[in-house]
Amino acid sequence: MKAALMRSPGVLDVDEVHDPVLPKGGVLLKVLACAVCGTDIKMLEAGHRDLTYPRIPGHEVTAEVLETDISMMRIGDRVQVWPGESCGTCAQCRSGNDHLCPHVKIMGFNTDGGMAEMMAVVDPSRLVPIGNADPMMLTLAEPLACCINAQGKLRVGEGDSVLILGGGPMGCLNAFLARRRGAESVMLSEPVLERLHHVPNGLFDRISQPKGDEIAEMVKRGTHGRGADVIIPCTPNIRLDSNVFGLLAPGGRLCVFSGPRREDSPLPIDVRDMHYRELTVVGSYGHASRHGRDAVKLLREGSDLSWIFTGRYGLEDVRQAFGHASGRTGQKAVITL
Ligand SMILES: [Zn+2]
Ligand SMILES: [Zn+2]
Repeated sequence: MKAALMRSPGVLDVDEVHDPVLPKGGVLLKVLACAVCGTDIKMLEAGHRDLTYPRIPGHEVTAEVLETDISMMRIGDRVQVWPGESCGTCAQCRSGNDHLCPHVKIMGFNTDGGMAEMMAVVDPSRLVPIGNADPMMLTLAEPLACCINAQGKLRVGEGDSVLILGGGPMGCLNAFLARRRGAESVMLSEPVLERLHHVPNGLFDRISQPKGDEIAEMVKRGTHGRGADVIIPCTPNIRLDSNVFGLLAPGGRLCVFSGPRREDSPLPIDVRDMHYRELTVVGSYGHASRHGRDAVKLLREGSDLSWIFTGRYGLEDVRQAFGHASGRTGQKAVITL
């Protein structure tokens, strides 16, 4: 079959590889769509903690069952694939946090992913049926599930003012979800305003470019001087320093959502400020399989997020798809087969 292959940092081609075979107790899938994630770009440019080479990338995948070794799946069933392969028996797996399983392997990182014509899945519990829903749209289940994980930890809800840093696909999906959860105002800081051309009016109440005091001014105006209840950084390009913490309202919550750069990672945090103003910092990385099922359900309810796909490519054009996603002038690139 044809597959995209990352061979080393910066090297990505399309090549012929051996067809995967039907695993015992599992399924063989024909890939329908696989979207390009910011993490894929980061992996190609600089490697990743969980990446080993050579690797077929892609963890935002929808597919159709080609062959099956289990009765609960039928040939032709359409599914979304949870990217984790976890042990299923440890304390984290049993508590519903299978993404934190110490043995977890992530598709597209430690195992081959969906930028290929076919893929084999050993554990069918990773598959979520998508019925007749649009397979391209349903690739959003994975990134949306990451937002569901983060916003659950942040307790985003009625009346909250939410500040999103970075207006790429993750910023937009977080804004969409925050509105669904009842947030009263959603503010955005994004340096490249042209990337918002495709974003529907009303997704953000206020937008500013991160220059000087502009974010602080926007937050002040947008919250009657109170500060943001929630901050979700969706770009590694903002250092989470005291300027960011200073934007939080008393009782405010911040999620370390986008993976920070190594050099920005050790930070002096004013714990007295955290104490007196009762601030909360939570981390989130990927999502558990239960968040994936919630995301599929939400997308199947008919939310139209098709505007987020600003680049659609064939598998042979994988490099252009990566170029579109890393150019930061559009939103999401997707490979359809
Ligand atoms: Zn992703
Ligand atoms: Zn486990």
